[in-house]
Amino acid sequence: MNASLKPVPGLAAARRQAKIDLAACHRLAVRFGLHEGIDNHMTMLVPGTTDRFYLAPFGLHWAEIKASDFMEIDFEGHRHVGLGPIEDTALHIHLPVHRQNSGAVCVLHTHMPHATALGMLENPRLEMAVQSALGFYDDIAYDAGYNGLALDAREGERMAGVLGQKHVLMLGNHGVLVIGANLPEAFERLYFLERAAQAQILALSTGRPLRLIPEPIVKATVAQFTAGSAVGGRQRPELHFAALKRLLDRSEPDYTT
Ligand SMILES: [Zn+2]
Repeated sequence: MNASLKPVPGLAAARRQAKIDLAACHRLAVRFGLHEGIDNHMTMLVPGTTDRFYLAPFGLHWAEIKASDFMEIDFEGHRHVGLGPIEDTALHIHLPVHRQNSGAVCVLHTHMPHATALGMLENPRLEMAVQSALGFYDDIAYDAGYNGLALDAREGERMAGVLGQKHVLMLGNHGVLVIGANLPEAFERLYFLERAAQAQILALSTGRPLRLIPEPIVKATVAQFTAGSAVGGRQRPELHFAALKRLLDRSEPDYTT
């Protein structure tokens, strides 16, 4: 019997919750304008495994994805659970990142507009010019090697290599990819990356130069973020994600089904 199929107490509940949370991520991406219709992918390792991930069938709009839709795909690209089309670039991008980057329990790839717009610039750097950008200090890898659609695994392996030990990959002329050890953490990165990119683009649109935050202040504030990330014993990303799911519970509760 495959190790991932051994009955483990609580594992069924953890998998059920993981699929609910992954469905919520797709719905929230729509709510915040981070989505691209039926394109792009959000994937997560199946709890209790290190070589299988959840993937939504291609063709569903992110606004209609439900917990019961997810397929289970192994690192050979074979489907074990679920039905529906598997889109090639999901395998070519997400599979190598899950396999090569040990922190990549969750891999979220989007073409969200403001971060993607930054990646279209000759200098795509997210500048340390606004507080919300400081959470990304020294945590973004920049890929200037766009070479068309990811039509085989080598492109994803290349992206995973550029990502290295960081959590955010700005894909020049393409979009972004963020990873996280859990969904609240990964979604928090996606959300605030877009917000920080939006603020930078708004500021640049005035035509006036950015005023960068001095490096010592940046470093001290990053240390403050790290020390003060828990409130009432819970991490900020967890609190934010729980609040966002409550919004979905009221307006579109079918995501949990
Ligand atoms: Zn893409």
